[in-house]
Amino acid sequence: MADFTHYLNDCKFILVSNREPYEHLRGIQGVEVKQPAGGLVTALDPTMRRTHGTWVAWGSGNADREVSDETGRVAVPPGESCYTLRRVWLDEADVNGYYHGFANRALWPLCHMLIQHFEYRTEFWERYRAVNLRFAHAVADEAERCTGRAMAWIQDYHFALAPEFLRAMRPSLFINQFWHIPFPPADILRLLPSGTHEAVLRGLLGNDLLEFQIDRYAVNFLDCVEKFVPESRVDHVHQTVTFRDRVVHVGAFPISIDVDRFEGMASSPESQARVTTLRDRYAKGTRQLGVCVDRIDYTKGIPERIRALETLWAESPELRERFTFIFVCTPSRTDLPAYNALERDVFQSVIAINTQFGTRDWTPIVLINENVDSDLLAAVYRAADLCIVSSLQDGMNLVAKEFVACQVDERGVLLLSRFTGSAEEIEGAVLINPFNVDGFVAAIRTALEMSPDERKRRMRRMRRQLHNSTIFDWLDSILARSAEIMGAQHQPALA
Ligand code: UDP
Repeated sequence: MADFTHYLNDCKFILVSNREPYEHLRGIQGVEVKQPAGGLVTALDPTMRRTHGTWVAWGSGNADREVSDETGRVAVPPGESCYTLRRVWLDEADVNGYYHGFANRALWPLCHMLIQHFEYRTEFWERYRAVNLRFAHAVADEAERCTGRAMAWIQDYHFALAPEFLRAMRPSLFINQFWHIPFPPADILRLLPSGTHEAVLRGLLGNDLLEFQIDRYAVNFLDCVEKFVPESRVDHVHQTVTFRDRVVHVGAFPISIDVDRFEGMASSPESQARVTTLRDRYAKGTRQLGVCVDRIDYTKGIPERIRALETLWAESPELRERFTFIFVCTPSRTDLPAYNALERDVFQSVIAINTQFGTRDWTPIVLINENVDSDLLAAVYRAADLCIVSSLQDGMNLVAKEFVACQVDERGVLLLSRFTGSAEEIEGAVLINPFNVDGFVAAIRTALEMSPDERKRRMRRMRRQLHNSTIFDWLDSILARSAEIMGAQHQPALA
């Protein structure tokens, strides 16, 4: 695995995220440790181990306090103690206002431009501010503890205000932030009340470097700053903002996956055996197997996908029994009413389709309504003849990349929404517009009818690109750019 420590030199690395890399939970056998699955932790944990840095995150485990000291610090990984996890404590009202409220009911829909789900409450905003301030204090304290320089790397839309707070506390700290979701155009951002959208932008301008998934989001951010922060100066060519006598750099750094890990999982003998079972059960003879994998979230275009399949089977009876679709739909954010309503909708529509078109030996849609581990996902991706990603908006979409990494037999076609970050990066997918039902249906037809040679050609191309752009390349490019900016900041000014 690549080593990134040289970029940091003697600089202490402080990572900030909402979710913690290790959660302590009370179990029947005493306190147990859980490491959440997910690309980010998998990629960053080894870097944290090598750099002996500090990871600041919400202490969400019910036994977290028992194992942490009075400042919320605990050495991790358990038994190895390579780095420090600094936990920030949140009570129920904090979680409701900051996390479920402003982050997930206001910023999430707004950034994905799905404004019918946008909800703003003063209480959400106040909690978000208070929690961001608390995180900034924790990071400042961690920076204070080291003798040399420190760098804070903040993750995501949970912390739009923390950089500005932190800048006021530690003016010389190098602060950067990765924004994992889209950034909306100005007309959408201004749906936040007056004063609030400007505050979000000023908060983000506390960074030295602000990283987006793709250039379009960086451009949106710069446009918003130009419109709503009059005291700033935007340079669109160099993608910088001069604000309060500092230069804020903005750029695109597309996130990716651990390609070798997914390819390895898909190629294992266990996976091979699963592929045989899956194809035996769902894709015997000339029948094809389709897959989709997502959290049940209104950004993912799940009803649009179901509608396209329904239209296809209704309009073309000859295509019934020609393919089976495995829908991995993982429950998500079940505390929010919009997510519950969507889950119910998805169930009802799938049952209706299966009742209308299913036959004695064919179920059109096989619904898997639980979290599936990545080993099994790798086999499902490998077994498939097509994968549909139909997000209405999506910062990147890692499922698309995982599908490509696992297609070691190069038989599958990727149908990919134009509105994902991945569509602007990967060439070789069949692009779809999930809002255009007829176009969507035509694209599924194209995929089903595509020749093996054409499938191979497209998949090879995507696989080559993916191997040149892994999660480690992502990390490398961000740390390299940070080191470059940090270096330039410390050059003596030219006379
Ligand atoms: N995922 C998983 N099990 C599931 C469903 C999803 O491990 O049952 C993973 C999937 O492999 C991918 C991530 O969840 O790594 C989803 O990432 P994506 O960027 O596609 O969407 P997000 O959920 O972050 O909006």
